[in-house]
Amino acid sequence: MKTSLARLQKLKSVLACPACQGALNFRDTEAVCLGCAARYPIRQGKIYLIQVSGRGDELDTLKGRLKNWLGNYYYRIGVNVIAPTYPFNYLRKVREFFDPESQLVVDLGCGNHRIDENIIGLDLFDYAAVDVVCDLNRLPFKPDSVDGFISRSVLEHVPEPVAIVRQLHGKTKPGGYGIHLIPFLFPFHASPYDYTRFTHAGQKILFREWQMVEQTNPTGPITLGLLCLIEFLSIVLSLGNPKVKGYVYLLLCAGLFPLKYLDVLFVNRKSFLAMAPSILAVVRKHEH
Ligand SMILES: [Zn+2]
Repeated sequence: MKTSLARLQKLKSVLACPACQGALNFRDTEAVCLGCAARYPIRQGKIYLIQVSGRGDELDTLKGRLKNWLGNYYYRIGVNVIAPTYPFNYLRKVREFFDPESQLVVDLGCGNHRIDENIIGLDLFDYAAVDVVCDLNRLPFKPDSVDGFISRSVLEHVPEPVAIVRQLHGKTKPGGYGIHLIPFLFPFHASPYDYTRFTHAGQKILFREWQMVEQTNPTGPITLGLLCLIEFLSIVLSLGNPKVKGYVYLLLCAGLFPLKYLDVLFVNRKSFLAMAPSILAVVRKHEH
């Protein structure tokens, strides 16, 4: 079992000051920038490059309460089962392109979910699964230093995805990969904000500096139907009350989730990219 200290150790040679890009001098309880003298606290193997802020929307708050009530393990199993989206094996896809143990892979906007003990978790919020707490607009890495960045349903939550993708390009090693799951036909979901969607053609513009290795539809049209139906019914049945909506949404998920498995007929089909709830893009930074 990798500890947070082992992950921090792995990070030390690639982290740079988010304010001035200067090198960092690591001590036990803080990192100090050799350029601008900024001090960044380190607590339990976690580095804080910004002041931690409050977080969450109604559904997030409700999920937090359920998590306390059920315990983390049962919560994760339960939520994955009743989620209306077809269960795509994201980690297997990541392992097709990376060896997380020997390479430095950063999960951008990881939230409260550690996908692999060797993958670095980065988020704006101080969740337990986060190793680097920072602003996604100011990524704290040296140029050409990271083997790859991965993200799941994150780029729709940042106001300037183009600027972030440009930063990712600068921080990724030549020949390194990016694996990004980005919603296309997906209802609005604040977490804490939700700004944009990309078609498969739009992704090619977003990643224009990269080689597009593959684009897949990790779910299918049944997931799309379920997402729309559950969103519609939870608005109608809650009479627009956002607090009630969170509960109604979970109840509807619990009742309707088995239908999602019908997507086994459609998953990964290129012909369904045109109506994909989310599209998974694998991109590669050119060697030169
Ligand atoms: Zn600095």
